[in-house]
Amino acid sequence: MAERMAARLAAQEEQIAVLGEEIRRLRDGICGDRDTLCSLAGRPELESLRGENEKLKYRLIHLRRGLQAQAEPEDSGRAGAPNAEHDNQEGDAPQNKKSVAPESKKPGENKKEKAGGNRGAGELDPWPAYIAERLTLYDQLKAESDALLARRAAETHPISVVLPDGRKVEAQAWVTSPYQIARGISQGLADSAVISRVSGELWDLDRPLEKDCALELLRFDDDDDAQAVYWHSSAHILGEAMERFYGGCLCYGPPIENGFYYDMFLDGQKGVSSNEFADLESICKAVVKDKQPFERLEVSKETLLQMFKYNKFKCRILNEKVTTPTTTIYRCGPLIDLCRGPHVRHTGKIKALKIYKNSSTYWEGRSDMETLQRIYGVSFPDSKLLKEWERFQEEARNRDHRKIGKEQELFFFHDLSPGSCFFLPRGAYLYNTLAEFIREEYNRRGFQEVASPNIYNSKLWETSGHWQHYSENMFSFAVEQDIFALKPMNCPGHCLMFNHRPRSWRELPLRLADFGVLHRNELSGTLTGLTRVRRFQQDDAHIFCTMEQIESEMKGCLEFLRCVYDVFGFSFQLHLSTRPEKFLGDVAVWDQAEKQLENSLNEFGEPWKLNPGDGAFYGPKIDIQIKDAIGRYHQCATIQLDFQLPIRFNLTFVGKDGDDKARPVIIHRAILGSVERMIAILTENYAGKWPLWLSPRQVMLVPVNPSLEEYAKKLCKQFVEAGFMADADLDSSCLLNKKIRNAQLAQYNFILVVGEKEKMTNSVNVRTRDNKVHGELTVDEVLSRLTLLKQSRCRTAEEAF
Ligand SMILES: [Zn+2]
Ligand SMILES: [Zn+2]
Repeated sequence: MAERMAARLAAQEEQIAVLGEEIRRLRDGICGDRDTLCSLAGRPELESLRGENEKLKYRLIHLRRGLQAQAEPEDSGRAGAPNAEHDNQEGDAPQNKKSVAPESKKPGENKKEKAGGNRGAGELDPWPAYIAERLTLYDQLKAESDALLARRAAETHPISVVLPDGRKVEAQAWVTSPYQIARGISQGLADSAVISRVSGELWDLDRPLEKDCALELLRFDDDDDAQAVYWHSSAHILGEAMERFYGGCLCYGPPIENGFYYDMFLDGQKGVSSNEFADLESICKAVVKDKQPFERLEVSKETLLQMFKYNKFKCRILNEKVTTPTTTIYRCGPLIDLCRGPHVRHTGKIKALKIYKNSSTYWEGRSDMETLQRIYGVSFPDSKLLKEWERFQEEARNRDHRKIGKEQELFFFHDLSPGSCFFLPRGAYLYNTLAEFIREEYNRRGFQEVASPNIYNSKLWETSGHWQHYSENMFSFAVEQDIFALKPMNCPGHCLMFNHRPRSWRELPLRLADFGVLHRNELSGTLTGLTRVRRFQQDDAHIFCTMEQIESEMKGCLEFLRCVYDVFGFSFQLHLSTRPEKFLGDVAVWDQAEKQLENSLNEFGEPWKLNPGDGAFYGPKIDIQIKDAIGRYHQCATIQLDFQLPIRFNLTFVGKDGDDKARPVIIHRAILGSVERMIAILTENYAGKWPLWLSPRQVMLVPVNPSLEEYAKKLCKQFVEAGFMADADLDSSCLLNKKIRNAQLAQYNFILVVGEKEKMTNSVNVRTRDNKVHGELTVDEVLSRLTLLKQSRCRTAEEAF
């Protein structure tokens, strides 16, 4: 290992020397001396020099990444490796555990006076000093705040609170809290409410109301915001446990789609091991048992910089993110955290909490910043819900495409090309079958397939804007005197194709489809199976059309995607994302386009929702989410309008009126999205039980004894020639029933058993992977039925046979 590192470092040194050489050459070439350099200011030559510098900087980034990737295997055992999102759940980490409090101590001993309360296993003893210091300052501030609130409460006046059913409740400004109002309605409601919403703003249940308002009481089950508050509050509990267990510096602890996490900076090489989860959970349990109230305080930025002086990350947040003179902190038990809130009333509201994963990441996801330890948890107001969640996780694990891909020999990955999949023959069958499906539809729907280059001079990427905004994610390299890059998208190449010769309105809409290979330089630590890769293909197409054609093209795209998703058996959700605050172009053009998108959605007839302001800066879009067999949503398809790319590439056509500078609009669209990712989704959706047309194992011929092997082989050949993925089981050591069972477990859709009788009549005995017996049929009959079922892309061929 050391030798390899040394060699790598030497190579880097050499490359840096080459870079230095290049910089000198640039300097000497453009300007011989200082005076010339000054006179060059603002000239195009200087601009070009800046451009060159950009490229050099970019190459340096790659050198650094290369070195990092090399260093990772060194300490990949623990999540201490500087590697974003490295999943360390499997718990294979060596126990390089740091010292913790002696285990002889009984729970309840060494009670911290200030925190009151229970202790969990393995806590630091004593707690980190900053906890007590923070609390001392907090107590002063709290006293001041209480005094202020008391003064306000003294000047209270009646206010009116409107409930969702329209009922009005009398309350006292600065005195009455949403919790009190809830209790006035029913104790059950007060207990089950997670948070309140006051005139649209999420509001702590114990925070006094300030003026006339509308009040909603939100429960975990019926509101996404309530769920987020619940999980966010749980993150504080986890944060408290992490401080008490590791003593590091907390960073961010947000709710996520499925639970929450908290990031912590630990000094030196310390990491987190999944073996510590039980101890952390036991501290969390103690915190829950304590029913620590969440207290809210508004404090000036300077005071907070003082309070968090031990934690450079919280100070960074204060300095960089907080733009107001004051902000809020929340206390629960010994934890005081910089936070906008709101939260549940107290930690006792978190009934079931589980820590399930850890990884390492970087401060704000930036690989040039500190490495942080991230711990994930999930929580529910009922342990039954946690059980359900665990069952779902188990189901998802069983369906994991990486697991099934291995079992079914579909694909694999290799360290020598991370993030680029090797599709084995059966995986390649899936890949090609999906592409063929889309190709057939292209023919029916007026798309024309093209093939375009993989590498382009960086000048192309400068024109498209990728170089300025996306170059960190592109693989680039020097070719002769220039920098080239592998394409991360097809669009710029298609713009060159459009511009290849003058275009007339008669050619529009021009629909160019391309299965081109795309590369994106994802950090090695973020690569996961087929869902996050570096190399992929899309069923990508770009429609060049006029403004007036947008509506009908969008409708065509929507019908196309419904046709494809129907075949897969996916239901889907549609969202229209409109003009964001920061946008390019003309408002009238945006309005016209959005109107057409809306019309096309309405005419399409499926329900849709509006995402106001969520469009890209270059055009509005329709977002499509498909729902898989276990209820998860995935974004695969995109239909995106683009007004900017045609301008950047100066695309024009001769309009009907003879205007030779008419500007087309581009529609970027894909339905499968990345074929790689779609294979992952389909694998998990079908749990490896592929529908016949897509199945990489369609037919298995099973001879009842060795004397029938020749007949089985002959039939197998016949099926293969007819386009089926067919095999014959010629393992004579296996008994008939075992062979049938094996074929069923391998998910062969149809199992054709042949004996003497079948051989005499040129027939087979048909059964399915679910052991439905269709009985004896002639080979011709079976071939024609299966061919029809395959062509129709029927999802239940085994039943319909
Ligand atoms: Zn919070
Ligand atoms: Zn595109």
